Amino acid sequence: MSIKTICTVLSRALRSSGNHGSPLVAGSANGSRLSSTCGSCGGKGEEETEQSCSSDPERPSGDVHSSCSESAPAEAKTRPKKKVGGSGVGGVRGRSFTSTAAPIDQVSYLWSRYNDMKRLVHELIPPGACKILNASAIYANNEVSLGEVDIYGFDYDYTLALYSNALNTMIYNKAKDFLIEHFKYPVDIRKYDYIPSFATRGLHYDIQKGLLMKIDAFHYIEPGTVYRGLNPVPDEEVLELFGGTFHIPLSMDSGFYGKGPKVKQFMDIFSIPEMTLLAVANDFFITNDIDYDPVHLFKDVSEAIGMVHLKGYMYKWIMQDLDKYILRGEETEAVLHRLVSQKKKLFLITNSPFSFVDKGMKHMVGKDWRDFFDVVIVQADKPHFFTDCIKPFRRLDTNGDLRWEKIKNLEKGQIYKQGNLVDFLRLTGWRGSKVLYFGDHLYSDLADLTLRHGWRTGAIVPELEQETKVVCTDRYALNLTWLQAVTGLLEQLQTHQDLESKRVFQEWQKEREELRIMTKNLFNPQFGSIFRTCHNPTYFSRRLCRFSDIYMASLSCLLNYDPTYTFYPRRTPLQHEAPLWMDQLCTGCRKTPFLEEMSHIR
Ligand SMILES: [Mg+2]
Repeated sequence: MSIKTICTVLSRALRSSGNHGSPLVAGSANGSRLSSTCGSCGGKGEEETEQSCSSDPERPSGDVHSSCSESAPAEAKTRPKKKVGGSGVGGVRGRSFTSTAAPIDQVSYLWSRYNDMKRLVHELIPPGACKILNASAIYANNEVSLGEVDIYGFDYDYTLALYSNALNTMIYNKAKDFLIEHFKYPVDIRKYDYIPSFATRGLHYDIQKGLLMKIDAFHYIEPGTVYRGLNPVPDEEVLELFGGTFHIPLSMDSGFYGKGPKVKQFMDIFSIPEMTLLAVANDFFITNDIDYDPVHLFKDVSEAIGMVHLKGYMYKWIMQDLDKYILRGEETEAVLHRLVSQKKKLFLITNSPFSFVDKGMKHMVGKDWRDFFDVVIVQADKPHFFTDCIKPFRRLDTNGDLRWEKIKNLEKGQIYKQGNLVDFLRLTGWRGSKVLYFGDHLYSDLADLTLRHGWRTGAIVPELEQETKVVCTDRYALNLTWLQAVTGLLEQLQTHQDLESKRVFQEWQKEREELRIMTKNLFNPQFGSIFRTCHNPTYFSRRLCRFSDIYMASLSCLLNYDPTYTFYPRRTPLQHEAPLWMDQLCTGCRKTPFLEEMSHIR
């Protein structure tokens, strides 16, 4: 069965029995008609239903498959002997339920709908159906035609140079040393090793309460994702702490760059070790019952992490072992080669110092790397580079020393320091949508450019690689689709108000909650996906959509596309719109209409 067919049939089934139909009026006559409709989507009889729910060894255990036989009472889930669902597409009309059809009890009816839907989800998404997603694809929030882009700009750290996770461990250990040696924290904190998979990017930290948490696009905390130290805080306690709501008011986290007065958002990839150190230090004081001030702790950890950067440790480690820390350097070289051969102009704006960038670029691209770039700006002090007009450009000589002459041109082959975007635009004339700038920091790199200056922006999101792998697993695809299907059943059948029906709904709600947790944990057991809470985009996702035209796991994804390629965003239906497009009909199965054609992508 082709993906397209799967999408069509499943979507029709979901619509007919779930999300998009009119609410049922409680009662057997109308209910029976819908039961028949659902059966027409599935096209199989009851014997086959029971078989399909219990006998596929390829299916993941403990989720859709197992819940089919374990989550509900056996007698309730067994379809009644009298036909409630359909026995095949061809037999629909002949057995449509009418007012003369045999009445059935509400509970049997609800479970028959449940089983029909489960069979559909199970059968219509075969193993491997979602493996067509590709971690090396470029995703569009906005339409971008590369053919119209003449000038490509780049950040350096985590854009031209991708770093391995080994760097996070080094940053964490050195900052921990500073906490102990400089800030006189208890030496026993040293016993805490780095936990690579603890924190994820985009989390918020309540400075006064000492809580790390994930917030969605509507400023609500995702239940189950609040951590005090290394332990989760129960949802009831979270509600108590935040005045009976999961909502974080705008006044607490409204800073444009994620720095509200009481809550900070960690948007930098470098901040993952910082979050881990915060959690570890909190954990130490809590578990040892030592009184401490979380505000002081936050400030001290921030300064300790800052010292790793300011004292140049990070630069030193990377420069000492470029092979260990820099990933995919040859692909960065290939991207730059390709763009230059297409007569594109290139520029670099980085906050890092020249000596560091020079060494890394020589490693990745070769000693003549500067020939690729028309303008090179180091220690730019982003995001202030994009917002302030104060700092003039300065030139560095070949020794890296500052020159004092006034800068009237930005010349190829020279290295400039500081400066500001207004002067940059005046001196280069590179304005508007013919410029595409790539960076990994949504605020420092991209926000001002897209909002104030109309450059096109590309976000580098290395986490996409791992998250796409999860989304491509059968386990995730099946369970997410089943989660959506259960949600659809709850939505449509909620008009059944009798006590027995409500008990059935409670079971479904319980299963829905289990599915949410299971799908979340596939990404990260503590915080889940950086892009999604249970059902909403995350705060991070919302900023990603707002500030980037396109986004990708690494710059090398550009190698998969023709230089004149146009990226078209998926037309996501608004809530009041019908999902008319094929690629939107099947949850989790389709990324773009072109996926099959793009199967050659690395
Ligand atoms: Mg960067």
